[in-house]
Amino acid sequence: MRIAVVGTGYVGLVSGTCFSEFGHDVVCIDTDAQKIDGLKNGKVPIFEPGLEDLVIKNVKAGHLKFDTNLKEAVSKADAVFIAVGTPSRRGDGQADLTYVYAAAKDIAENLSGYTVVVNKSTVPVGTGGKVDEIIRETNPNAQFEVVSNPEFLREGAAIEDFMRPDRVVVGATTEQAKDVMAAIYRPLSLFQTPLVFTSRESAELTKYAGNAFLAMKITFINEIADLCEQVGANVHDVAKGIGLDGRIGGKFLHPGPGFGGSCFPKDTRALFETSAAAGAPLRIVETVININEKRKKDMAERVIKTCGGSVSGLTIAVLGLTFKPNTDDMRESPSLDIIPELISAGATVKAYDPEGMVEAKEHLPGVEFCENSYTTLESADALVIITEWNEFRALNMDKVKSLMKTPVMIDLRNIYDPTEMKGHGFTYESIGRPSK
Ligand code: NAD
Repeated sequence: MRIAVVGTGYVGLVSGTCFSEFGHDVVCIDTDAQKIDGLKNGKVPIFEPGLEDLVIKNVKAGHLKFDTNLKEAVSKADAVFIAVGTPSRRGDGQADLTYVYAAAKDIAENLSGYTVVVNKSTVPVGTGGKVDEIIRETNPNAQFEVVSNPEFLREGAAIEDFMRPDRVVVGATTEQAKDVMAAIYRPLSLFQTPLVFTSRESAELTKYAGNAFLAMKITFINEIADLCEQVGANVHDVAKGIGLDGRIGGKFLHPGPGFGGSCFPKDTRALFETSAAAGAPLRIVETVININEKRKKDMAERVIKTCGGSVSGLTIAVLGLTFKPNTDDMRESPSLDIIPELISAGATVKAYDPEGMVEAKEHLPGVEFCENSYTTLESADALVIITEWNEFRALNMDKVKSLMKTPVMIDLRNIYDPTEMKGHGFTYESIGRPSK
């Protein structure tokens, strides 16, 4: 199959690279010339474990190419994937479809022969219909079908998720389009991956429903954690006890500072807007959004309380800035709420993240960025762990204690054990666990 992928970000680059690994001929296109130039020279613009090796391998094999101009790739393609961003629209929280529509118009102008136009971007239900209209208006002679194929990969585990997905959802109407999609994903039949064909509207909504459900699960366990703190229970025991119930499942039951990232916050907002506009408002999703927004801000209060009620004049060391480990993505990370609150409360903030520092420097003015975990801790009055990178899981506590001015740790990811930390002489605060 010949595939063009329009938009070479987290999803476009991973999808395009994995399709080329499946054996298809892929061209990834992006309007960002710097990004494409870098990729042509083997420079992968994002941190995603395993991605760089796969890009280099498939470029070398001639299956994967990069371009800023979609003309040639689209005209030759059997399928064109749209994988551009759909950020929250300013003002109302609905998905901003500017990039999707612009890509649709560019694609329309260059279609030649029967082509399946596949929307992989996360888009509100009905967007496939609008993309169809744009293409028809721009190029009335085009032979095409617009299909929805939402992407479920997780940053940090994107290659594994793409190569071994739980399922692939395809919203398509005609047998011809379904055949093209089945051919693209055929290598996954080896693992008996379910290929779920639905209507385009159902596929579009499936993506939002899935993300909203996971966001709800995280929010639920975060609230149970708050209750645990009040009644002397341990949230991990409760999570294990409920998670072993097959109807509930153990994943996404880890408490923390609130969800962030490039998907859950914007997708829950967009889903609520869609539901309200359709006259079937999803109150549960609205509540999840509000609880989560408040939670991220409340985490700064938790730090201040642990520091004795004020952080004015104190130095706070922060480890972890990205919204989760194994990514450099800072979008809507809890650190972007917590750190500015601490600074406006009078703290000096020093911070370190293994991969997120370049982006963090743009979003977190006034922070002193450090070279590694230990230099961050020098003369700190308290340590806050915001992201659970592996390298923060086994810090040498004697060294940590000797570097800090006072041994105070606020562990927002529960990576350490309260009893052990007390044994090391720390004032230790975590989420939803009795401090023994
Ligand atoms: P991203 O911001 O990393 O990448 C989008 C890319 O599209 C950018 O490189 C941008 O330059 C490019 N672009 C914009 N307009 C273009 C155009 N007209 N032609 C060519 N390129 C264009 O975004 P992302 O995180 O990859 O997300 C893409 C979509 O996938 C979104 O709808 C998102 O919700 C969805 N999604 C993301 C993830 C994730 O983990 N990041 C997971 C599943 C689904």
